[in-house]
Amino acid sequence: AAVIVAIDGPSGTGKSSTSKAVAAKLGLSYLDTGAQYRAITWWMLNNGIDVADAAAVANASGKPSIESGTDPSAPTITVDGQDASGPIRTQEVTSRVSAVSAVPEVRARITELQRTIAAGAENGIVVEGRDIGTTVLPGADLKVFLTASAGARAARRSGELKGADVAATREALIKRDAADSSRKTSPLAKADDAVEVDTTELTLHQVIECVVTLIEG
Ligand code: C5P
Repeated sequence: AAVIVAIDGPSGTGKSSTSKAVAAKLGLSYLDTGAQYRAITWWMLNNGIDVADAAAVANASGKPSIESGTDPSAPTITVDGQDASGPIRTQEVTSRVSAVSAVPEVRARITELQRTIAAGAENGIVVEGRDIGTTVLPGADLKVFLTASAGARAARRSGELKGADVAATREALIKRDAADSSRKTSPLAKADDAVEVDTTELTLHQVIECVVTLIEG
């Protein structure tokens, strides 16, 4: 049967790099659920929706068409047919995405998309996010929860952002994780049956090997 792997955790723990590499190595599909929340946030900002107004966000949540390409070597995300992979990574989207993803109507819509994609992945799939093991795919064959110290997470993220200030990145990460962990609907959380992997002292290669071993048993 198609294997379903859920990889959750806060930002900067290596979730995306690990999930993509594991999927590529094992011939599985890959879904970046954060990209979907970023895409709907980008659409809201482009369409004049006040993202601090939860009712306005809820009303608009069904409007954009969001499609994810699940090839781990070339994942894609489009909004109304337009490539959104660049614009969803801007600071503006990053600073607003927690507000949009806290709206229950947004989560319901995106969760349904995620379940449809996972059910259609004939060779199995690695799905990364914040609530995959707890809410989206509670029946996943393997659940991994990645953690790392705040310092390690900020250092990795600053590296990705090419020279961004580590202290400022750290503050922004802590703020976003606190918002994601405290929302009422499916917050960032470790499922009871998830395997927790602290990546602080591990290389990316070691984390990938660890997850591959967990899948292969
Ligand atoms: O993974 P990434 O940092 O791109 O996620 C962006 C944001 O999307 C998170 O900070 C969170 O607000 C939201 N998100 C979520 N549930 C998920 C994945 C992401 O709420 N499963």
